[in-house]
Amino acid sequence: MPAQKLVQLGDTGLMISRLVFGALPMGPLQANLPPEEGGELIRHALECGVNLIDTAELYGTYQHLNRGLRGFTGKVHIASKTHAATADDARKHVERALREIDVDFLDIVHIHGARLADPFIERAAVLAELVRMKEEGLIRHIGLSSHYICALEKAAVQPEIEVLHPLINSTGMGILDGSREQMAAAIARCAAAGKGIYAMKALAGGNLISAARKHFRYVLDLEGVHGLAVGMLSKEEIVANYALFCEDREDELLWSRLEQKRREIKIMEDFCKGCGACVPACTNQGIYLEGGKARIKREDCILCGYCAAACPDFIIRVV
Ligand code: SF4
Ligand code: SF4
Repeated sequence: MPAQKLVQLGDTGLMISRLVFGALPMGPLQANLPPEEGGELIRHALECGVNLIDTAELYGTYQHLNRGLRGFTGKVHIASKTHAATADDARKHVERALREIDVDFLDIVHIHGARLADPFIERAAVLAELVRMKEEGLIRHIGLSSHYICALEKAAVQPEIEVLHPLINSTGMGILDGSREQMAAAIARCAAAGKGIYAMKALAGGNLISAARKHFRYVLDLEGVHGLAVGMLSKEEIVANYALFCEDREDELLWSRLEQKRREIKIMEDFCKGCGACVPACTNQGIYLEGGKARIKREDCILCGYCAAACPDFIIRVV
């Protein structure tokens, strides 16, 4: 393995690669890769020098991580998230992650708070349970993932929260309560308070792919951003992103291919029964019902796949 260029993740003591492997797109909400195939990509990233993998209970990718980590002897950190509303469920989520990934502890567990304006009130019992699990040694650090500026502002003064995983991109797409400048200021405030920050959605779920390098640099250059999670579905994306993020190199030919890729959301309309369960799952008002069918407002959709998770008939896919 090449020498890794690592950065300090706030006051956590963790040293991470600037490129963080985002596991969401390989799971059943999006590309639905078999665990062996996803595991092979994760392993490739680890061998390139990536050392933090970001997943979540909701993503359904623990088996992919299990395959990717099997027999790997290098140092790797795992971050997961719990969307639990109760302490009991939070514990179940952490225990499932430990069991299925087959590790003794998780480096980071975030309150999966995309849609929570005040996670410390709405998920107080969950936070208390995460603190207990940290004392028991099941978790090393507690974090918060959020699409809200106000949640980050609250986290800056919340001593239990050591890591933030905020949504930010140069268009501000997906930020739920303000501008990219306000989110950037909240990130800088959290970092100044010693929190570790690795961001998400620099390409707004793929919407900004045609100028990916520019949009990645915008986030990586923000004050207080230590790393950036990117969902990757091919070895060439891993190689290109690692070189860009961690070695400041770019292969023009490779990037011109990657920047032409497009992602989209698909609803198998014939099978949609118009139940509406997907509508409240979207943080961005990106999906609505019309004529008894679910429809996407493309300009508001960040291709996160959360509506797909809410559809009981599995007919929404981000591909
Ligand atoms: S429509 Fe679906 S994929 Fe698009 S932002 Fe909303 S939840 Fe995410
Ligand atoms: S949850 Fe599924 S079936 Fe129900 S409206 Fe949405 S896409 Fe259609």
